[in-house]
Amino acid sequence: MASMDMTHPLREAAEGFTLRSRRIVVPGGILDGYVRVAGGRIVEVGAGEPPAAAGGMVTRLGDAWLLPGMIDLHIHGLGGWDTYDLRPEAARHLGLLLAATGTTAYWPTLATAEWDAMEAACAFWGGFIREEWAGGGEGPGGGGAPGEPSGWAGTGHAGDGRGAGAGGSTGGGGGAGRPGGAGGAGDPAGSTGAAGPGGPAGHPAWGAGARPLGLHLEGPFLNPRKPGAMRPEWMVPPDAGRLQLLLDRARGTVRRVTLAPELPGALDLVRHLRRLGVVVAAGHSEASYGEAVAAFHAGVTLGNHIFNAMPPLHHREPGLLGAVMDLPFDGELIADGVHVHPAAMRLLWRLKGTGRLAVISDAVAAALLPPGRYDLRAFVAEVRPDGTSRLADGTLAGSTATMLTCLRVLVEQVGVPWPEAARMTAAVPARIAGVGERKGAIVPGLDADLFALDEQWRVVATWVEGVPVHTPERPLVVADLINRALAVQ
Ligand SMILES: [Zn+2]
Repeated sequence: MASMDMTHPLREAAEGFTLRSRRIVVPGGILDGYVRVAGGRIVEVGAGEPPAAAGGMVTRLGDAWLLPGMIDLHIHGLGGWDTYDLRPEAARHLGLLLAATGTTAYWPTLATAEWDAMEAACAFWGGFIREEWAGGGEGPGGGGAPGEPSGWAGTGHAGDGRGAGAGGSTGGGGGAGRPGGAGGAGDPAGSTGAAGPGGPAGHPAWGAGARPLGLHLEGPFLNPRKPGAMRPEWMVPPDAGRLQLLLDRARGTVRRVTLAPELPGALDLVRHLRRLGVVVAAGHSEASYGEAVAAFHAGVTLGNHIFNAMPPLHHREPGLLGAVMDLPFDGELIADGVHVHPAAMRLLWRLKGTGRLAVISDAVAAALLPPGRYDLRAFVAEVRPDGTSRLADGTLAGSTATMLTCLRVLVEQVGVPWPEAARMTAAVPARIAGVGERKGAIVPGLDADLFALDEQWRVVATWVEGVPVHTPERPLVVADLINRALAVQ
């Protein structure tokens, strides 16, 4: 059984509280100690028992791991809620399900869809992020601040540190706003009275799920010869006017665009996006090694779900995959144990080092749903009894994993030590998302984005910017949050 011992109710985040755990995953190690939180930030991390003068309630987590909240840079949906479901309650449910599974921030990702649908989704998310998550410190065009939180140096995986750009963080930056405010925007209590499209009854703070850090457009400027599960007929050639339309619809909230850099005109878009501070990833691509190197020099910094939707490594034409391995690209890895063999993950990890790899879920809305066929708008996915999501022809159609699944695969199958696994699920994605100065690690000064994990791999508590979103007293129940309406009869 869980050794969780919640002897005191959590107080309001603003008053501060202390978490005591024997297994706190901090940069470079595991600490038997405590974490003090006040004003939404981590204010102190220390060994042993918290000092009596620390103030606030002490929550004893026992043997539960305390980890930095995970950050998912590539997610299309979860639990029946799709990023193309343009209703605020869908986005809120997505955020709550993410929090219930240990993810505290994310880039909602729009797969390539029909043009009008992409425009509408950009408009929806632009409004949702700007209005519901106002005060997030994610101003337009302000991304790209490099540097992980201080303290990472010397975490010491071979291959680390080449051009890592890890700046000495002072940890004090970034005006992190409070999410929504407890009981704030659109508290559904009383309006629906029951779990359902309106949300779980009585949940205190809709705005307090995982924070959407900005929008990721996975397309539409992709190579139709590498569509993955997406429809090639919806992919369009690079076009500055079309891109600008999407950016405008999203009101400056697009933080990342994934494109195929070998397409004519793509590098002009790359340079334009970089000037705006938008992260550009290469993916769904057949780029040659030379084309990928050119893309790197034009400003592409990230390999989109490495190994997937790109040609395999060939020793006479290393291609995009070889370039990602060879150059200081960041790379993202669907670490669900299905999309990439654990041995291939291990090889990539040895090559790139922990500091260059971000774990992603690439989850689709069918994730967390039982086997069956689901209408995911862009395609019909079949969740097979083995848990994979596939098109009728067997093509993998996104993943059904959560970041928690990926963390577990990383630790148990790839053999990544906890501190490095935490870095790949939190600090590296935070840096890539331009929020490494305020998120991604259990370090004083950073946002109190935390989750506690028991020995059975259950998330027993999650705090988003100091707000207790999911606790043993007020648990988020996954089964109550999922939407079963996507099933195809
Ligand atoms: Zn993809």
